[in-house]
Amino acid sequence: MKMLVRLRKRFVYLLACLGIGLLCTYRIYNVQKDFPDYDSSYLDNALKSAKNARDIHVVIGYYQGNNLPWVHNENITEEILNQNMYSPDPSAGKMGEAVIIPPFESPKMSKLFQINRFNLMASDRIPLNRSLPDVRRKECKGRTYQVTQLPTTSVIIVFHNEAWSTLMRTVYSVINRSPRSVLTEIILVDDASQRLFLKESLEAQISQLHVPVKVIRTPERIGLIQARLLGAKQARGQVLTFLDAHCECTEGWLEPLLDTIRENRQSIVSPVIDIINDETFQYVRSFELHQGGFNWALHFRWFSLPLDIISQRQNDPTQPFKTPVIAGGLFSIDKDFFYKLGAYDEQMKIWGGENHELSFRGWMCGAQLLIAPCSHVGHLFRKSSPYTFPGGVGDTLNSNLARVAMVWMDEWKDFFFKIHPEVAVYAHNQSIEDRLTLRHKKLNCKSFKWYLENIWPSHFMPFDDRFFGKVRNIKSQKCLQSPQTKTFGQPYGVATVSDCIIEMYSPQLFILTPDGYLKTDDSVCLDAPEFKDSVSDVRIMACNTLQRQRWSYEKKTERLIHTASGKCLDLPSKKKLPVSPVGGIALELRACDDKSKSQTWALEDIKWR
Ligand code: UDP
Ligand code: MN
Repeated sequence: MKMLVRLRKRFVYLLACLGIGLLCTYRIYNVQKDFPDYDSSYLDNALKSAKNARDIHVVIGYYQGNNLPWVHNENITEEILNQNMYSPDPSAGKMGEAVIIPPFESPKMSKLFQINRFNLMASDRIPLNRSLPDVRRKECKGRTYQVTQLPTTSVIIVFHNEAWSTLMRTVYSVINRSPRSVLTEIILVDDASQRLFLKESLEAQISQLHVPVKVIRTPERIGLIQARLLGAKQARGQVLTFLDAHCECTEGWLEPLLDTIRENRQSIVSPVIDIINDETFQYVRSFELHQGGFNWALHFRWFSLPLDIISQRQNDPTQPFKTPVIAGGLFSIDKDFFYKLGAYDEQMKIWGGENHELSFRGWMCGAQLLIAPCSHVGHLFRKSSPYTFPGGVGDTLNSNLARVAMVWMDEWKDFFFKIHPEVAVYAHNQSIEDRLTLRHKKLNCKSFKWYLENIWPSHFMPFDDRFFGKVRNIKSQKCLQSPQTKTFGQPYGVATVSDCIIEMYSPQLFILTPDGYLKTDDSVCLDAPEFKDSVSDVRIMACNTLQRQRWSYEKKTERLIHTASGKCLDLPSKKKLPVSPVGGIALELRACDDKSKSQTWALEDIKWR
């Protein structure tokens, strides 16, 4: 089955499994069910709850089936595609509210949804200057910035076949909510769009605005990386601020970004990325206490902030905090510094992986990557991509990721390629000499090992200080396995043992960290939530810092001992042999017994580099 996992802003994507046809999308949302109150008691609570760590550690994602984007839809004619159907209702979507399309219009709504993979009909009803809630914390609202001291910025928006209303709403939100004196211009880069309403009529529209807005058009489709580079080249502001073409900036979004760069020119800074719902266009505030990272497939993921950052934030919650990786669609960077740092890898195609490349390069070569919690910008997250990828989706993304690994990840590229052989094939015929020269000769960058150790200490990659491999039960000869069905984007569920299969099968690969966490991909850990019961189930849950997730391996007795209870990881008793939905044998935690062979385990090292 060929599966396209997509997700990004970034919220990445992609992963080609084997086989045919079905396209799935995978998205990670920075989900927040209840809005926290924005006062400081929220932070106290967050700290408490992070300490208790019963809350969701990694942010939610989900799969959704999808048709191939390039399958021609008979119902959508050229005429419809080229029509600008913007017809605002003055109150629709005000204060970021959801737009509900009445049932009698839903056939048309569904049809139009296919064009951009969001509710175009809803978007076309919302005025370009709709109001939004001020979602900032009160400490942020109270902060003032000396606008005259801030660097100026060019806002660069690249687009390919964007809807007119979402594109223009992005432009309007920038103009309406940015201090005029720091906003040098807006640069729209049209990446070979075909829609007629994005041509002359767009130019006519933007010439009316009181901020210089210029359009650059690429002669052929060059992808977002090259398109941003074109925009950057023409920018006259001191800072480059990149936005996707379907964003809405909220009050005060720009000042914290520019102020971070004023303080340190080597900063690459992102806003908190809120969610514009793809079905209703509701503006949904997202959770601030997350930073970006990646999983074993190099897919972008949000993880909750480490405790040290959460406690630092207690003193001043307006301070930008570090993120190992930026989502990539929305950020600011000093223009001169952008070029000094090597801009983008020009050989990366169309879309994807460039946020990892910039983030690794940034951290390893002297920049700092931050999220400014006082800056909130909404981004419209889609469940699937509406456009074609020249050269094919898999080729494009895998080739980009292969380049990232080869240039920046040192021995971890071996791990990545072993675990994702479908990407490894793209490692051949990549010319990366220029990027290696940049890394080693021009910028004298640090190693990926340094990056993992210092910038992302809570990573779950194999590392010198830890075991990496299979955890084999000696009696059954089966291997510890994490669930294969994902809940909220993570393999939560009962921990089982199953037949040990091919070496590099991720659900059967674990690391044991020096502090006793038995972790696997996507930052999930072996957990015994009910360890106080005499016999309890063992689970795979989001890693937290609780005692109940700590284990030690006693070489002499070959036992895996649960630290908090002193009990042992065991097969189930003979009487009940619970079989998990995927066929594995569900494990139990019970009192250690010297004579029990079912409590013996072998940690089998696997060579990952
Ligand atoms: N884009 C582009 N050329 C491409 C692909 C994307 O200009 O070949 C633009 C797109 O219109 C959007 C931005 O790049 O403004 C990011 O793409 P997208 O929003 O599809 O990515 P996502 O946010 O879904 O990850
Ligand atoms: Mn986007």
